[in-house]
Amino acid sequence: MIKRPLKIGLTGGIGSGKTTISHIFQSLGIEVFNSDQYGKKAIEENKTVIKKIHQEFGEDIITNGHINKKNLSKIVFQDITKLRKLNNIIHPIVIQDFNKWYSKKTNHYIIKESALLFESKTFHNLDAIILIKAPVELRINRVYQRDNRSRSEILSIIKNQLKTKDIKEHTDYIINNNEKTLLTPKVIQLHKQLMNL
Ligand code: ATP
Repeated sequence: MIKRPLKIGLTGGIGSGKTTISHIFQSLGIEVFNSDQYGKKAIEENKTVIKKIHQEFGEDIITNGHINKKNLSKIVFQDITKLRKLNNIIHPIVIQDFNKWYSKKTNHYIIKESALLFESKTFHNLDAIILIKAPVELRINRVYQRDNRSRSEILSIIKNQLKTKDIKEHTDYIINNNEKTLLTPKVIQLHKQLMNL
């Protein structure tokens, strides 16, 4: 028997539009677990996570007893080995948070939004995966306008993320979030499909 709610993963590279699309799903009444936000919360509040990050990355990333996320981000996005180490510290906590969150849900399906569905290996536990695609230049421009990040910083993040072509074969649905077509009708159409699963 299929276990409800269905777990639908939503992923895509930086600036592809995951959060924007999650908001559209939310406006349709679908609950969204934002993995990246839970990851940030773990860095800010979870004492075990803070201790492990401190041990792994040293004094440079601590400011007034807290993790300095900007410094940490600079380190990990220049070094994929360090990025993996950081993710290995954070992922188990986010998995626990998701399981707790999911256990209280009763809808037809829920969305698990994550930039790292594949890197965290959590895609195995999902019923279907949506990939958000957008041209790389458009993603860079969108992030450049949204964040206080330089173009080279955005490029190094993109370089360290999995490529769309490598993820594609594991995905069930693709949303093209380009400038040429309206986004909301595509999400509504996909929502209808998911409600019929
Ligand atoms: P990240 O991986 O950094 O969390 P993301 O994939 O969640 O990024 P969003 O934050 O949803 O991406 O989108 C990046 C920026 O582009 C945001 O400022 C958002 O408002 C804008 N944006 C996304 N999609 C569109 C669109 N279809 N039209 C106009 N602006 C868009």
